[in-house]
Amino acid sequence: MVKRNRYLSCDQHTLFCNIWVTSFCNFSCKYCYESTDKPEAYMSRETADQTIQFLETVMQQHYDGIWLNFHGGEPMLNAKIIKYIAGEMEHRGYSIYTSMTTNCSVRDAEICDYIDELTVSLDGDQTVHDRNRVTRTGKGTFQIVIDNARFYLEHAENTRLRMVVRSDTVSDLALGVQYLYGLGFRVIIPGVDYFDPDWTETLFDQLFEQYQALHRWRIANVHEEAIIGTLDEKIKPRGKCVVGCDGYQIAQDGKIYPCTYITGKPEYCIGDVRSGIDPEAVRRINCAVQQDVPACSGCANIPYCIAQRCLILNQQLTGELTTPSAILCAEENMKQKLRKYIRETGTGDTHV
Ligand code: SF4
Ligand code: SF4
Repeated sequence: MVKRNRYLSCDQHTLFCNIWVTSFCNFSCKYCYESTDKPEAYMSRETADQTIQFLETVMQQHYDGIWLNFHGGEPMLNAKIIKYIAGEMEHRGYSIYTSMTTNCSVRDAEICDYIDELTVSLDGDQTVHDRNRVTRTGKGTFQIVIDNARFYLEHAENTRLRMVVRSDTVSDLALGVQYLYGLGFRVIIPGVDYFDPDWTETLFDQLFEQYQALHRWRIANVHEEAIIGTLDEKIKPRGKCVVGCDGYQIAQDGKIYPCTYITGKPEYCIGDVRSGIDPEAVRRINCAVQQDVPACSGCANIPYCIAQRCLILNQQLTGELTTPSAILCAEENMKQKLRKYIRETGTGDTHV
């Protein structure tokens, strides 16, 4: 549970790799940052074998263990390749840890044997969830998702729940978390949608109030261990992301990228599982992402802020590597305010 929230770096001897087993998704969530155009492309068995070979080469050079996260599109639409890669790596004697986030459209009991940490996406009760998480024909997905999410909660050992919080769902956050806790989820991770252009200062005040309400609710009502995303997030120095050290994204066609947000963008490609890493591409991108962010000069949050660590995210949000997004900045400030509130009113138990 803790593993997923940490930031890996070169000296941890664990290679992180995000494997995109398909770019296709059967849902069409209104906020999907992967765009509406999701080609029906799947990782083939041949590319999976080449991916395993690439990983073995990298592992032998530098690492003791590997953390494989399976990604999409919707990764369960290519479950056979997930099972194949995880099974092969284990069979070859590597120390592996596996994770995946699913939209819960597919129920497959067998996948629980291959995934150590499964995250299901569910935004709250039916009204809230169906506001944004819809099928390709625009129908709400709650009914199918809730049945499968409960199935996985029962059958998978570590099931987490991921909620997306937007300008049109923020006022329902506290009740949503309470509802999901009532269903049995004990790791609930709300995440702000940075790509939603309708966030305002007032809505961030509302977000703060929602977390305050959740904190009070938890003190009064929750007597089992429960992790609730931002409430329990440890604020710690992040350091800059280093391309080539902080893990790889391997796309379904075998091309390699440094970061989830730009997987598939040719200008960010740093290699291919068949030919290996292109050191010149790594150097070029590292030079760009190691820059300072002058607009933040003097801010006390600099060591902790994601806008400092992830310049590629800045670029995706604002068009400029060194221009942080106002939404991201507002969230970082809200988190600091929340920590102070929890310190002043809390139980001192942060469950981290
Ligand atoms: S389920 Fe995930 S990948 Fe599919 S449309 Fe929704 S957010 Fe995008
Ligand atoms: S984005 Fe905002 S919170 Fe983050 S370092 Fe810059 S000014 Fe500070």
